[in-house]
Amino acid sequence: MAPEPGESLASWIDRLGEDMRCPPGLVADDLGLRVVPGAVQRPLSLLFGITASDEQKAAVRAATGVSAEVFNGMHLCVYDGTVLDLSDLAEDKASVQRVWFREWALFTTSRACPACLAESGGVWMLWWRLAAAAVCPVHRLMLVSHCPGCGLELRRGTERNQGVPPRELLVAPTRCANRTRNRVCGYRLTELPRVPVGDEICAAQLAYLDAADGRPQLVAGRCVDAAEWGWAFRIVCGVVRFVGQTIELPTVTPAAAARNWWMMRAAAASCHRAGCPVTAPSRGRRRWRLHCWRSPGGSSLRAATMNWLRR
Ligand SMILES: [Zn+2]
Ligand SMILES: [Zn+2]
Repeated sequence: MAPEPGESLASWIDRLGEDMRCPPGLVADDLGLRVVPGAVQRPLSLLFGITASDEQKAAVRAATGVSAEVFNGMHLCVYDGTVLDLSDLAEDKASVQRVWFREWALFTTSRACPACLAESGGVWMLWWRLAAAAVCPVHRLMLVSHCPGCGLELRRGTERNQGVPPRELLVAPTRCANRTRNRVCGYRLTELPRVPVGDEICAAQLAYLDAADGRPQLVAGRCVDAAEWGWAFRIVCGVVRFVGQTIELPTVTPAAAARNWWMMRAAAASCHRAGCPVTAPSRGRRRWRLHCWRSPGGSSLRAATMNWLRR
């Protein structure tokens, strides 16, 4: 079974496991992704799904015929140098922790579009693991972060052992495979809430993805490189987030405010490791986002941002 274009490594392994009726952790073993043979505590590389070694690329090619280029394309490292900076990442805990706290990506979890999962039969896109992945431009739906069944982030695994494919149970790519209290959640992810979004937010998401792919759009008529675009995006998010906590959007959202809201949402989604007070409990954070999205009345985020900048 070949990987689909844009698919994440964890997704491909889950689908291989379903096809072979084999737990995905054992599929990863068979592909040669195990670091320490026989190890149970940390059976996979710390960099699983983030970056691949030459040995892993060769092992996967030998086992499946998938080229090193395609295999590499399933890792977050494809965004290194554009919206992510993984230049100082090494396979040691201190290095990995530093990058996790600094970079805007979901290293062990994912967001998802329920319509995409339904149509593809459970193909999870790599870009859903970027922290600024907010909406699906194809279906014009908000991406979902958390499973309504178990309350955990999608594809987290367990509370303690994040992002490690299970070695003892089968995983259906369209169902939640999180485990709490020794129970598999099993929620049908094709039935995740479908919250429609407008054209402006989809356009903003596409602009971000263009930059992530190394093709940033012009900024004020000027060419900028992808890394510069990515840093500017983070700075704008920081400003918007700083003033955005007490702001409500009007019922009819002006285009510019909608774009800012999208940026704020992306920032809020990514800042939980930085101790943002808005985002302390994960369930509360989700409610806050939806509240922002639906709440009527109040001044626009854009006006508040400009007022703050004039101070
Ligand atoms: Zn979709
Ligand atoms: Zn669940």
